[in-house]
Amino acid sequence: MNSCIFCKIINKEIKSEIVYEDDIVIAFKDINPQAPLHLLIVPKKHIENVNEVNSEDKELVGHVFVVAKEIAKKFNVDKDGYRIVVNTGKFAGQAVFHIHFHFLAGREFSWPPG
Ligand code: 5GP
Ligand code: ZN
Repeated sequence: MNSCIFCKIINKEIKSEIVYEDDIVIAFKDINPQAPLHLLIVPKKHIENVNEVNSEDKELVGHVFVVAKEIAKKFNVDKDGYRIVVNTGKFAGQAVFHIHFHFLAGREFSWPPG
């Protein structure tokens, strides 16, 4: 997937502010933050969105949440709380078609979302 912007970030062809990386995922600061802390946790495997997740990806998806928990502790937002968002498709406003988990923290969030 040569044209995918997140694959390029994963391959370090495009710069980003990486806060965490292992063999399975990378996490970096969103370029257009919607909260004081706005990270994107991105599996290195190119999966378009939730519609394309298969049973073979179960461990990968579980790993994302283990990483999210560690990130919450690292940035000291675990107690106050945070929101994890995965936009899928047109109605959710998905703009980048490589699955990613928005990690938002540092302010209160309203519910229901807009
Ligand atoms: P989506 O709307 O697809 O759920 O979210 C895509 C997110 O990726 C947006 O929040 C947008 O700001 C972020 N984004 C798009 N291009 C780049 C980029 O080149 N670098 C970084 N760090 N974030 C990006
Ligand atoms: Zn990709």
